[in-house]
Amino acid sequence: MCYRCSTAAPTTRRTFLTMAGGAAAGLGLPSVALAQKPQPKQPGPPKPQNEITADEALKRLVAGNRRYIDGVSRRHDFKHEREALVQGQNPFASILSCADSRIAPEYAFDSGRGDLFVCRVAGNFANDESIASFEYAIAILNVPLLMVLGHRSCGAVDAAIKSIRDNTTLPGHLPSLVSALSPAVKAAEGLSGNLLDNAIKQNVILNVEKLKAATPIIDKAVAEKKVRIVGGVYNLDDGRVELLT
Ligand SMILES: [Zn+2]
Repeated sequence: MCYRCSTAAPTTRRTFLTMAGGAAAGLGLPSVALAQKPQPKQPGPPKPQNEITADEALKRLVAGNRRYIDGVSRRHDFKHEREALVQGQNPFASILSCADSRIAPEYAFDSGRGDLFVCRVAGNFANDESIASFEYAIAILNVPLLMVLGHRSCGAVDAAIKSIRDNTTLPGHLPSLVSALSPAVKAAEGLSGNLLDNAIKQNVILNVEKLKAATPIIDKAVAEKKVRIVGGVYNLDDGRVELLT
């Protein structure tokens, strides 16, 4: 259960106190005595420093990426972070990343435990399950920023290009990846430059748009400016994340 779920109680408690105060007044009892009655403390959010805006969240990701590029990542205190996060989570950003082992959002943005809400699938495309996960992150955890993070030399996108170009069917469940990535490959086919690089970028752009339009929760949160959705591409050679949107 997240801390926000556990803090649903105070509203109920306040409502109850208001009603109790009104009843006390009707009985001629001092309502102030009820109002001042000590209440059990509710736990605050873990990592209160993560209560930031979308722009601040993006700045924090960029700054973390800079430290990672420069090889000056922070030393994370996993022991105390772990203890602080037993009661809930309060991430400041969500990431849709490729499953590629060379891409690790927590490392790439030099972030700690409980900072990033990450969904990963080869080809970093949004499906029903990841959309549902981000709905939870946005609606329940109030995460202000969502980034679709592609990367250079993505094997999933490359395999989709070859499968479509050669009109071959890959074994096992791989055709589902090809199917999910084919809109990006088709969008890139008419562009000048390297097809793989263009398809990787198009895949990020299309999935940013898909997430922005995901009804009924994420599209509403975007319209109400409760969440900002951006795209980026990770460079394998220097670790830099190039922002696209
Ligand atoms: Zn990949």
